[in-house]
Amino acid sequence: MKLTNPSELKTVIERHGFSFTKSLGQNFLIDENILNKIIEGSGVGKSWGALEIGPGAGTLTRELAKNCGRVVAVEIDKKLMPLLSDTLGEFDNVEVINEDVMKLDLKQLVAEKFGNMPVAVVANLPYYITTPIIMGFLENEIPVSSLTVMIQKEVAERMVASPGGKDYGALSAAVQFYTRPKLVCRAEPHCFMPQPKVASVVIRLEVLDKPGAHVKNREFMFSVIKSAFGQRRKTLVNALSKSPYINIGKDLIIEVLDVLGIDQNIRGEKLGLEEFAKISDLLEEKNNDK
Ligand code: SAM
Repeated sequence: MKLTNPSELKTVIERHGFSFTKSLGQNFLIDENILNKIIEGSGVGKSWGALEIGPGAGTLTRELAKNCGRVVAVEIDKKLMPLLSDTLGEFDNVEVINEDVMKLDLKQLVAEKFGNMPVAVVANLPYYITTPIIMGFLENEIPVSSLTVMIQKEVAERMVASPGGKDYGALSAAVQFYTRPKLVCRAEPHCFMPQPKVASVVIRLEVLDKPGAHVKNREFMFSVIKSAFGQRRKTLVNALSKSPYINIGKDLIIEVLDVLGIDQNIRGEKLGLEEFAKISDLLEEKNNDK
């Protein structure tokens, strides 16, 4: 069975009377080369567990089953269950869970299903919830080693962007706080059935042992970052002092930048994670002292 072959995929889909639901981001992969690059990029092996979000017809799931010790795939669409029993029936190391991934307790799931195995998230993600899924894993510190995921090209570019670039923003900082991101390959719309409107990219996010910056209050730092990028054209001082997310006066912000030797006219887009961490720590300390 080769589900990257469009006519084989169509036959399976027709056999089960399945029809695509656009709102669930159902664009199934039909490019074998990209499929291999996802598996390779994920770095999984026989001792690994793989957690897949949205198996669709089971194309990626089948490859994961051949390469990993255990695969758990979470699929929201009930209509795909009989189809997946068909395409995955030959594997005894795969379990499909018919649930909305956003409603699952992923920490518990990973512990229950994989025990002490190293776990990788490997998925061609539904585009309408790419960022919430990824940030959910990272912010809740679900114990996975890496996430190798197909996502929209623009979102991937924001995740890997460095300070100063046009794509650098709150998402770059958040992703880089938790992971080392690396682009694996690009996938044009013709690699999917049906074709999406936008180009896609496979990105590998290697989860860091220690966060990308040392900060006392993570939540406050992310409020500062969100504020800094909420109004990109403003200087950091103006963006922070007018932010709806934090309540800190302009004078204090200027004082903190002064102490840290940072130019008062700087914009947030020039600052790296370490600088945001230092600014947040000092802002909070001085604000509490007031
Ligand atoms: N992995 C398949 C492939 O590469 O051909 C399908 C990928 S398709 C882009 C995304 C899949 O995610 C679809 O099967 C869709 O039904 C599923 N999905 C969408 N929203 C979901 C959710 N909230 N929880 C779990 N699965 C979801």
